[in-house]
Amino acid sequence: MRANPHFQKLPAGYLFPEIGRRVRAYAAAHPEAKVIRLGIGDVTEPLAPAIIGAMHAAVDEMAARETFKGYGPEQGYDFLVEAIREHDYTRRGIEVAADEIFVSDGSKCDSGNLQELFAADAVIAVTDPVYPVYVDSNVMAGRTGAPGADGRFPGLVYLPATAANGFCPPPPETTDARGVDVVYLCSPNNPTGAVMTREQLTAWVAWAKQHDALIVFDAAYEAYIQDDALPRSIFEIPGAREVAVEMRSFSKRAGFTGVRCGFLVVPKDLRATGAGGERVSLNAMWSRRHTTKFNGASYVVQRGAAAVYTPDGLAQTGAQIAFYMENARILREGLARAGFTVYGGQHAPYIWLETPKGTTSWQFFDGLLDKAHLVGTPGSGFGPQGEGYFRLSAFNSRANVDEAVARIAKVFA
Ligand SMILES: *Cc1c(COP(=O)(O)O)cnc(C)c1O
Repeated sequence: MRANPHFQKLPAGYLFPEIGRRVRAYAAAHPEAKVIRLGIGDVTEPLAPAIIGAMHAAVDEMAARETFKGYGPEQGYDFLVEAIREHDYTRRGIEVAADEIFVSDGSKCDSGNLQELFAADAVIAVTDPVYPVYVDSNVMAGRTGAPGADGRFPGLVYLPATAANGFCPPPPETTDARGVDVVYLCSPNNPTGAVMTREQLTAWVAWAKQHDALIVFDAAYEAYIQDDALPRSIFEIPGAREVAVEMRSFSKRAGFTGVRCGFLVVPKDLRATGAGGERVSLNAMWSRRHTTKFNGASYVVQRGAAAVYTPDGLAQTGAQIAFYMENARILREGLARAGFTVYGGQHAPYIWLETPKGTTSWQFFDGLLDKAHLVGTPGSGFGPQGEGYFRLSAFNSRANVDEAVARIAKVFA
C-alpha cells in the first residue's frame, strides 16, 4: 500500500511533547519543586449539576426498552438543534434554520473534516500564530509543501497577527488575496486571547464576498466574551450567510472537553464554485458528507448539551466561565504589576504576554520553570510570529492562580 506522502511533511508533534519532556527533566532534577501548569488549554471544573442530571436521566432511558435509543439523526436530535437555534441564534436576532445546524463530536473534528469540501488545490489562509489543527489538517490533505526553515508551509497564506494590528490581521491586500479560497478565523482567539470587533468582521465578510472566499469562523470561546457589543457569531454580520461557516463547541463553554459535543453551522445561502464553474451548495455537500461518514453524537451527550440551555444550565455554566475569567483577571493584573506587557484575558481564557526584551519564547519557558516553577506555552509553538510571546491559560484552580501570581511577583520584582 502506498501511504499518504503528505504526513511526512509534518514535524513530529513538537510543542506539547517538548514541553512535557522539559518539565519531566526539570522535575526529576528538582523533586522538591511544586510545578504549576498554566500551559494547558483544557477546562478544570467538573460538569455542572444540570448537565450531570440530564445525562444520568438519559442513561436511565437507555436502560428501558420503551425509551432506549439506537442510531439517532446524523445531524443531531431536534431537542438539541432547537435549543441551539433558540438560545445561540434566534434570541440574538440571528436567522439560522434547523437544517443549517450539524451537531458533531466537537470542533477539532469539524475543522479537520470540513476541508473535505475544499478543492484539493484550494489556497488556505491562516493567521500566524494559529491553532495548529487548521494548518496540520490541510498539510495532511496535501495542500502545502514541506515546511521551510522558518516553520512555514509553502502554499499556505500566512496573515501575521501582531501587537500592531491588535493580533487581528486585516484581510490580505487585493493582489495577495488572488486565489485565497478559505480563511480560518478564530475569535476570541486561541492563543492570543484577542477578540474581533464588528468592524473587523465586517471587513472580512466584504473581502470574502469580493473574492468568492470561504470564512471558517471558530467561535469555540464565544461564551467568554464579556462585552455585549462584540460579535459572538459571524452571522451577526450582514452578508455572512453567503460566505461563512461557524464552528461552535460545548468544550470550553460547558466543560465538554472529555464529553465531546459541538456543532457546525453551514448556511444554505453559501455557494462555492464547482469543477465546471457551476455554483454548488456547501450545505448540501456537508449534509452528504456528515450523513455518510458520521452517525451522530451520542444520545446521552446530546441530552447533556441540551441541558446547558436550561435556566439552571445557563446559570451554572455561566458561573464557571465567570470563575475562569476571574482567574484571567488575576493573572493579567498580576503580570502587568510585575512589569509584563500583557494581551488577551479580557474576553478569552488566555493571556498572551510579551517575553522580556532579548528573550525567546523557549528561553522564557525555561527561566519561568526554573525560577518560578511555572509552566506556560511558548508562543513560537503556534507559529513564527508567536516568537517573543508566551501563553498562559486561566483554566486552573484559584489556589494555583494565586500562587502563580505570587511567584511571578517575587521572581520579577
Ligand atoms: C478548544 C478549542 C476548540 C474546541 O475543540 P473541541 O474539539 O470541540 O473540543 C476549537 N477551536 C479552538 C481554537 C480551541 O482552542
